[in-house]
Amino acid sequence: MENVTASEVAGFGVGTLLLCATIAAPKIDAFFSASQRSSLGMCKKCGDLKRMACSNCKGAGFVKDGGIFSFGLMDDQYQSTGGRSSIKCTKCNARGHFGCPECCLSNPASM
Ligand SMILES: [Zn+2]
Ligand SMILES: [Zn+2]
Repeated sequence: MENVTASEVAGFGVGTLLLCATIAAPKIDAFFSASQRSSLGMCKKCGDLKRMACSNCKGAGFVKDGGIFSFGLMDDQYQSTGGRSSIKCTKCNARGHFGCPECCLSNPASM
């Protein structure tokens, strides 16, 4: 093992680093994403996507019938999708996402 070249060592180091990064990525992302994004000039909330998935319907735009908005629904909010009854997400108006409050409030024209 005396003839290990510098590039092999570097390759091993990078490989180990990538492996560690892959394993730890979710934690690192959760921990650093906000500060990273802001340091990159990106929006802290949406990462410059300009929009955020609706927390109620998880971005689908619809929620299953019998969900938390099952009360007081209008008939025209019902819609059959694939035989299963789903209702429009009233929180996002079936869009599945909102404009990012940070970006949109500061720059409404970007929507
Ligand atoms: Zn929604
Ligand atoms: Zn944003």
